[in-house]
Amino acid sequence: MAALGYILDEVFVHHRAPSGHPERPARAEAVRDALTAAGIDARGQRVATRPASDDELARVHAPDYLDELAIAVPGQSGWLDADTYFSPGTWDAALAAAGSTVQLTLDVLHGRFAHGISVVRPPGHHATRDRAMGFCLLNNVAVAAAAARAEGAGRVAILDWDVHHGNGTQDIFWNDPNVLYLSVHQFPFYPGSGAPTELGSSRALGATVNVGLPAGCGDAEYAAVFDHVFLPKLGVFRPDVLLISAGFDAFQHDPLAGMRVTLAGFAAMAQRLRAAADRWSAGRIVAVLEGGYDLDGLGGGMTAVLSAFAGPAEPLPAIAPLPAHMVARAAIEGTLAAHRNAGAAIPDPTTAR
Ligand SMILES: [Zn+2]
Repeated sequence: MAALGYILDEVFVHHRAPSGHPERPARAEAVRDALTAAGIDARGQRVATRPASDDELARVHAPDYLDELAIAVPGQSGWLDADTYFSPGTWDAALAAAGSTVQLTLDVLHGRFAHGISVVRPPGHHATRDRAMGFCLLNNVAVAAAAARAEGAGRVAILDWDVHHGNGTQDIFWNDPNVLYLSVHQFPFYPGSGAPTELGSSRALGATVNVGLPAGCGDAEYAAVFDHVFLPKLGVFRPDVLLISAGFDAFQHDPLAGMRVTLAGFAAMAQRLRAAADRWSAGRIVAVLEGGYDLDGLGGGMTAVLSAFAGPAEPLPAIAPLPAHMVARAAIEGTLAAHRNAGAAIPDPTTAR
């Protein structure tokens, strides 16, 4: 079994941005160039892209919405909302982003690869069941999670470290106790959702976990969120496959957001999730590109993911301390309290290991 499968393809460059738009083809090229320089072709196997099928899309998107996109988007240019453009190459890119992420996830689920990296655009996590928004048309990671469930995964976890809350992914799985959605994001910030009290519907209470950090947080605060909230929850939930909504806009130089995560910080997050997947998910982990608008943050961040996934298995690192930053600490404690009060307590980090 090849250790790593990956998606890298020119089709994603053909989703052409209006002049000055941050979600631009150079993002995919920067990740491609960085992964190529890091030797990804010798460390894994490229998986051919394919479009998502109608059935795959219909598991998470409304029929009327899919019909609307299929009429408006192919071969044309325009806007679906104030942020979300399309160009003549967009429909093929969007279908390939969702379909290839499905394929890679199923390949990992079925043991063809241990791990996966899916470098796609347009991104997906803001797309809801029936609405494009925030540069997103189809919710790639949600379509892949639903495919994994349909193909035999009992439980799927989606961990979203993009600096924006993945409102679309949260909405799509709001009522589903078998898909765990974990997000750490700048808060308050676009798109406005992601409060700690958003926990999932009554039949899925605790399967949505939100940690909203204040602007200015960096590696120490993110490590604390992972060690005190996300890893203990993953240790209880034990997903059959772990998907990462891997945006790199929490990077310290990102032009759209206000976080201070370094490339070492992304490496630490990726290493923790690799170790968590090794421990609780038979190693099955797939990172899917979301946002990130600084080209060095994108290239360096995804290279850190490659290193974590393609390297040897490592144990979980020592538990990071709760942050000295009082607002960040209060955010973590607020999330833990919300889950405890709802009867879905997240265990202490020491008992989870
Ligand atoms: Zn983002």
